[in-house]
Formats: sequence, C-alpha cells, structure tokens
Amino acid sequence: MVKWCLHDSRVSHAGAAEFRVRWSWPGEAALGPRRPRRGRREQEVAMSEDRADTANLLKAIEFASRKHSTQRRKDEDASPYINHPIAVTHLLADTGGVTDLVTLMAAVLHDTIEDTQTTAEELEAQFGRTVRKVVEEMTDDKSLDKAVRKQRQVDHAPHLSSRAKAIKLADKIANVQDVTDTPPANWDLARRIDYLDWTEKVVAGCRGTNAPLEKFYDEVLKRGRAKFRS
Ligand code: ZN
Repeated sequence: MVKWCLHDSRVSHAGAAEFRVRWSWPGEAALGPRRPRRGRREQEVAMSEDRADTANLLKAIEFASRKHSTQRRKDEDASPYINHPIAVTHLLADTGGVTDLVTLMAAVLHDTIEDTQTTAEELEAQFGRTVRKVVEEMTDDKSLDKAVRKQRQVDHAPHLSSRAKAIKLADKIANVQDVTDTPPANWDLARRIDYLDWTEKVVAGCRGTNAPLEKFYDEVLKRGRAKFRS
C-alpha cells in the first residue's frame, strides 16, 4: 500500500513556508531514520565549511611543496619529493575513503618535521595543535641509528592514534609501490626485499584501522614480492 506523507515543513528565512511532499511506503521506517533535510542556512554554513576545508588542505599542500622544494626522491629519475606526500594523501582519500581533514592535512605534512627545517611549533601556528600532534607521531628521531629507527617504527605502530595509523598504512603502500616500480638506483634486490619485509611488520601494528587500505597494502606487497621473485 502506498500513501502520501507530508513532512519536513519549515519556514524559510524569507518567511515563506516550504512544504515537501514525498512518497513513502509503510515499513520504510524500518530502513532506518531519514537523513534530516538541510535548511538554506545550514546549506550555506556547510558550503562555507567545505570551502574552508579545501582552502586549508591547499594551504598544507602549498606549505609542504615549499618545504620539500629542493628535495628529490631516490628513484632513478630523482622525482620531486612532494610527489610522495601527495600520493599518500590521495591514497587516504581515494582508496581509504578518508574525509577527515586533520588526517588529510597531516598526511600532506607528514615528512616536513623529519625531512625539512620545519618545527613542530611552526606546524601548530599554521595548522593547529591536532595536526601538529599527528605529524609528530609520524616523525622518526633522526638522531638515532637507522636500524634503531626502523625497529622503533615496528614497536610504536600499535600505539599510534588511528589517524597516524591510517597515514602510516598509506605511507607504506606508496613506498612499497615505489620500491617495486621505481626503486632507488643503488638498492640491490636483497635490500628491496628486506624493505618490503620491514613494511609488513610496521603495517601489522596498524591493522584494524582502515580495511580498504589494509587490503590494498596486501595486494601491493604481493605484487612487489612476485616481481622480485621473477
Ligand atoms: Zn612518507
């Protein structure tokens, strides 16, 4: 049986009543609560929030590209370093379905403290305390020996915030893809295989955070190993 249902009557800011009529079926409520309709004022607020989010993300990209401007990746073509944080952020948003702005901004900025002259205070002043804290979680202590740093990433991964875990997953996906397809020119096969094995240990501590990213990591790892075996 189909019936008419009149609902969501409200007074717009112009003072005119808006009535919306829609079909509804008995039992439709069992599908769950209806999404509340947005009024014009709410839509305007949401749009200006979207604009602010876009501007903040672009500000982070502009900041990171300036900070990394003189750096190159270790691949044969020495591609611009900024390609990496942008690839990580794209993986989070696209494969991972992440929309949380703090996570996306921290992903763009994740190597700035570790690899450039950027300070944590500078990040806080530009992007706020929450973003600073996530980037700090992503930052290795470069005063330590490389082997110690690598072990620390394995040990610390389970204790990271869920935002940092998601960025770490995307970071390792991007790095496994790079080592598989465009490896550093001076890395022999054993070193590439070791690198893949190490990322697997770090990723083990980040699981339970973002299923699509974890699944994609498994796929790129498998592809990398198959390529190195062939
Ligand atoms: Zn990275």
